Formats: sequence, C-alpha cells, structure tokens
Amino acid sequence: MNEISFKLVDKIERDHALSLDEYELLVKSLTPSLASYIAKKAIKARKRIYGDRVFIRGLIEISNICKNDCYYCGIRRSNKNARRYRLSKEDIISCCGEGYKLGFRTFVLQGGEDMYYTDSVLCDIVSAIKSAHPDCAVTLSMGERSRQSYKALYDSGADRYLLRHESADKEHYALLHPHEMSYDNRFRCLYDLREIGYQVGCGFMVGSPYQTPAHIASDLKFIESFKPDMCGIGPFIPHHDTPFAAMSAGTLELTCFLLSVIRLIYPNVLLPSTTALGTIDKSGREKGILSGANVVMPNLSPPSVRKKYELYDNKICTGEEAASGIEQLKDKIKLIGYKIVTERGDIIKK
Ligand code: SAH
Repeated sequence: MNEISFKLVDKIERDHALSLDEYELLVKSLTPSLASYIAKKAIKARKRIYGDRVFIRGLIEISNICKNDCYYCGIRRSNKNARRYRLSKEDIISCCGEGYKLGFRTFVLQGGEDMYYTDSVLCDIVSAIKSAHPDCAVTLSMGERSRQSYKALYDSGADRYLLRHESADKEHYALLHPHEMSYDNRFRCLYDLREIGYQVGCGFMVGSPYQTPAHIASDLKFIESFKPDMCGIGPFIPHHDTPFAAMSAGTLELTCFLLSVIRLIYPNVLLPSTTALGTIDKSGREKGILSGANVVMPNLSPPSVRKKYELYDNKICTGEEAASGIEQLKDKIKLIGYKIVTERGDIIKK
C-alpha cells in the first residue's frame, strides 16, 4: 500500500486542495484500492449535499456544423465524411416539449460553432423555451462567443453555460487544437461567463492524446481555483475520421478516479457521469455515479440526427441513453441506491 497517496486523499478531503506536485503524484499512484478509498469519501461528500438524488438533463444536439477544427472531434470542419445537419427553432422547441413530459427540467443545447445561430436566432430560441417552460433551466454549450453575445443570451434567459476548458496546460492545449484556436480566448470565455452570472461548467477529456499526469494536475489545480458550478469530464474516444487514432488503456478507471478527486476538491459541484463513460463500458454510467457523479444527460435530440452528432466512434444514443428510455435509466439508478428526480437541479451552495 502506498501510504503517501492515501494521505493525499485525506488531505483533499480536509483542505479541498493539493499542490500541483501532489496532484501529479496522486494521479500516478492510482491503484484499485486507492480508487475505492477515494470513491467512498466522494460518495460521502456528495450524499451530505445532494442525498441520493441524481439530476437529469435533456441533451439536444442542435447542430453538427462547426467552423472549428479540433483534432480530436468527429464533427471538426475538415471531416468531409460527416453528414451535416442543424435543428430549427421548431425542432428544438418540440424536443423540449417531449422532454418536459418525460420529467426533464433542464435542457442543454449543444452544438458545433455553427454561424447560423447568431445572437438573434439563439436568443429567440432561448426565450421561446423559457416562456414555454418557465420552471426549467436552459444550459448552452455552443462554444466560444463574444462577451456581448454571452450577455445577450443570459439576458434572454439562459441559466448555465458549459464550456470545457479542454486542457489547462497551454502547450497541451496547442497539441489538441489548430493554431487559430487560442487557449487564452477559451479561458477568457469562462471568466466572462462567470462574471455575467451564469452557472458555469468547465472540464476536459481523460486520456486525450499527449496528456500526462502533470497535465491532469494542472486541470485539477484549475478546477480547484475556478470552482466551476459544473464539471464535465469523460474519456477521450477516437473518431475514425480524425488524426487521433488511439485510445489509452485504463481510461475508465482514471476517469472514475478523477470524478472522485473533483468531488472532494469541490463537494458542491454538479458532476455528470458522461455519455462517453457509458460508451466505453456498459455500466460506465453507474460507475461514474458510484465514484461521486450526480448528474446524467440522456439524449433528447430527434432520433434522426443522434448518430450524426458523432464526436467519437460508437456513441451510444438508444436504450437508457435516450431520454425516451428514462424509465430504464431510473431502474438502473435505483438498483445502485440512487434516485432520478424531476427538478431543475441547480448547484447547492450553503
Ligand atoms: N462546440 C462546443 C461543444 C463541443 S462538444 C464547445 O466547443 O464547447 C462537447 C465536448 O465533447 C467537447 O468539449 C469535448 O471535450 C468532447 N469531445 C469532443 N470530441 C471527443 C472525443 N473524440 N472523445 C471524447 N470527448 C470528445
């Protein structure tokens, strides 16, 4: 047993912080017994704040058209094989109506950076959703925009914004993105969103190309200082039409371990057990919850587009992964001792 790493877990539980070197050492020390030791503490921390409740979000993938060319992503603009689509306002509103009936009280609009969604188009969609469902939260995940644009969207009713930082290490960030994308702008967006008043989510992929334990330590340090309301982390899964072919071994275990670490860094955080986790392991979703996650985001996109929003290979989008399979998902979550609830599921900050 590596004593030091267990002591480090006790330290995050107590101080909600470690040094960069300590985070790196912790990541390098991952063993099954360390993982179960930290998962127990993460579950305890999460239960204290959220009890046995698991929040659900209806994910609507509004467009796979993107002006960016992130090397890891299946809908990057250079992928000539992607069959492109975008949803209209009517399509989106009807997804929300269906989701509402199924018990969803948060809708997440995610998409590529599709220039069709100007501020006026997107503000109109957001305010239509909010007037149809005033008791629901709207989360946007539409990439980098200007501060003015974020402000307009917030004023039209958007409550939350998800923008994964992707990597807190500038050099690593540059290995994942083409030159025209900037690390500084990505972080500028996150701070703007926070200042405007959104509940903000950051996050990163686990096992992304070139990622080292030192990079993950930087990500954890950033999360510790930024204290995001939400944090999306999931395994990197290759897409066959991108330059990044390989997936590293042990990503499932590392993702679950990091979910526990993040829960202890910031016990109040809203932490999804991601679709990517469910994709690499058939009980990945449940494993994420049992590591400290408290959110799941079933797919509420129209069935005809779900496969086209292909960020990575073999994405799951039917069965309990689909919003329509919510009853199945409820049963699975119940089996592991948790309960899916019909609530907005805002962050609880005491
Ligand atoms: N255009 C939006 C939404 C991006 S898709 C934005 O820029 O924020 C949402 C997330 O999917 C990305 O932030 C990325 O972390 C993740 N993702 C993209 N490609 C992936 C892959 N191959 N494997 C796993 N996750 C991926």
